[in-house]
Amino acid sequence: MKKYPKSNYRNIDLYKDVSDEDWNDWKWQLKNVIRDIPTLKKVIEIDESKEKDLENCLTKFKMGITPYYASLMDKNYDRGVIRLQAVPKILELDVAIDDHADPLHEDVDSPVPGLTHRYPDRVLLLVTHICSMYCRHCTRRRMVGDNDQHLSTKQIDDCIEYIKQHKEVRDVLISGGDPLTLSTKRLEYVLKSLREIEHVEIIRIGSRMPVVMPQRINDDLVEMITKYHPVYVNTHFNHPHEITQEAKGACEKLANAGIQLGNQTVLLRDVNDCPNIMKKLMHELLMIRVKPYYIYQCDLSRGISHFRTSISKGMEIMENLRGHTTGMAVPTFVVDAPGGGGKIPVMPNYLISQSDRRFVLRNYEGVITTYTQPENVFSDCGHCNICADKRYKPLDGLAKLLSGEKLYLEPANLVRRERDKNGKS
Ligand SMILES: *Cc1c(COP(=O)(O)O)cnc(C)c1O
Ligand code: SF4
Repeated sequence: MKKYPKSNYRNIDLYKDVSDEDWNDWKWQLKNVIRDIPTLKKVIEIDESKEKDLENCLTKFKMGITPYYASLMDKNYDRGVIRLQAVPKILELDVAIDDHADPLHEDVDSPVPGLTHRYPDRVLLLVTHICSMYCRHCTRRRMVGDNDQHLSTKQIDDCIEYIKQHKEVRDVLISGGDPLTLSTKRLEYVLKSLREIEHVEIIRIGSRMPVVMPQRINDDLVEMITKYHPVYVNTHFNHPHEITQEAKGACEKLANAGIQLGNQTVLLRDVNDCPNIMKKLMHELLMIRVKPYYIYQCDLSRGISHFRTSISKGMEIMENLRGHTTGMAVPTFVVDAPGGGGKIPVMPNYLISQSDRRFVLRNYEGVITTYTQPENVFSDCGHCNICADKRYKPLDGLAKLLSGEKLYLEPANLVRRERDKNGKS
């Protein structure tokens, strides 16, 4: 069994006298989040010019680094992967022309403040604007750290009421901010209210705590969550260096309580834009019982253009995973479409050609192979009782084309259509 590194906070002057009890207490970690430059300088070295830049940056964006995550930083090396995710850079003040405050239209697609309803059967519930740590690459930087508060009880109740009214919602994804910054009691209020709704089948919690403050995953929290199963937790590891004994302990605690863990990695330039590092990360995640779920192309949020790399890099990473290693280690690479189109999977092409009889496919080795389709393959799908029952209409988008319910889809206000209309009038 692999030996995992442990935080060496005892070697840092600032923390060397902290008791084990305090260090392992998430409330202590939260109270001691590093928010200013003098404190940060007690943990890492910052040269003078960089310090000026940092000051500039903090006039615009907040910094927040948990003592635990700070203790993983390399004291002298300023391009370390932990530091890149934690310490602001002057580049954040550069706004690229393609940057947006809300690229995913999470506010636009929000029927009630705090809730985004984009997909047919699931909603995103943003219960807080607070995080224990302010990741430099954060997609939701428009609100995270800006406006330091949790949703009020009234706002939460309004979201719950919306979900109650919408029977099609079978999956609620609790995110933020980081929902585990809520007290266990407060989070229980949300879980309990959701569980009282009959049509809510699964609950998911998205949290970076296992990575940046594993101390948060304590027995109280885990016991509370297990009362509301099935609950899934998705976390956010970006680099193998984040996988420590502490992080492993946190994930195991959750897994042992029957809480399945998934991981959402963001593809970040100079952090993990490398097939070797990504493969290693996926393997290590499985070893701490976390199933890789998504790799995200970095969003077009404001001030993070220096973190972006090409979509092609993501494709190259996927090419290096599929077939080369266990399918368990292969997440889906997605581009979250600007404008609220949702997550769009992108992967190399495996389909090379096709006729009405045969598919020509290639595998990861470059072997080109064929699959001969059976004859008389047309099924009766679409004509059985379920479809004949007009109350059953779950289809949206291209699925409607496949079912024959629609012959075509077209964008609104096509020039051609406008012309037709004008011609007629
Ligand atoms: C990502 C996301 C979800 C969940 O998507 P899954 O693919 O089911 O994990 C739901 N709502 C919004 C707005 C999202 O961005
Ligand atoms: S934990 Fe998530 S929401 Fe919070 S700053 Fe990091 S990426 Fe953003």
